[in-house]
Amino acid sequence: MITFCAILLLNLNTFSTMDTTRCSNPAEYHMPTLPYQSYALAPIISAETIEFHFGKHLQTYVDNYNRLAKDSRFEGMTLSEVIANAPEGPLLNNAGQVLNHVLYFEQFTPYPTKNNAPTGNIADAIEFDFGGFDNLKKQMEEASLALFGSGWVWLAQEENGRLRIVSCKNGDTPARKGMTPLLGFDVWEHAYYLDYQNRRAEHIHNLWDIIDWNIVQSRMR
Ligand code: MN
Repeated sequence: MITFCAILLLNLNTFSTMDTTRCSNPAEYHMPTLPYQSYALAPIISAETIEFHFGKHLQTYVDNYNRLAKDSRFEGMTLSEVIANAPEGPLLNNAGQVLNHVLYFEQFTPYPTKNNAPTGNIADAIEFDFGGFDNLKKQMEEASLALFGSGWVWLAQEENGRLRIVSCKNGDTPARKGMTPLLGFDVWEHAYYLDYQNRRAEHIHNLWDIIDWNIVQSRMR
């Protein structure tokens, strides 16, 4: 368990600068800064959705996480340690949602492009494990539609380096299972309802145009 946690921590610190966003009280997790303007992802994700999703939903998860961790045996642990060790319940739910959302908002590029595709190591790994980018897209879109209710669909990396698609209910995260989350689709309705209403498939399909593959690749082990 100690080895596993050390590996996970190293990874999280490497792939997400936002995981270490802290200020004077080291026991508290602080809101990251949105790495683009709220309108930068429109029309794929509108400014209104970003303002609610980042500004209200993520803020609430961060506030709940800090409140629940305070004065518990988890106070002072990093987010990664809490996710690895906390029992099922409100603290774990909020910790998972903080990590999921921090990675989610960080993974987009404000320059939507058609034919946006991975290159380099991540492209090679996708080719090896899925037989190509088109297959990955198809499988992630299918998994996003198949997930009943709220949750996440992740491209994640196992400890052995292999990539796989992981469906997570509610606030669960591949990090809880010892995997490294690389690319996440939030299929809670709050992620798309203002822009797409019930059209989850259309929302997910459009996200491919704004994925920053350099960020996704930087999260690999
Ligand atoms: Mn969300």
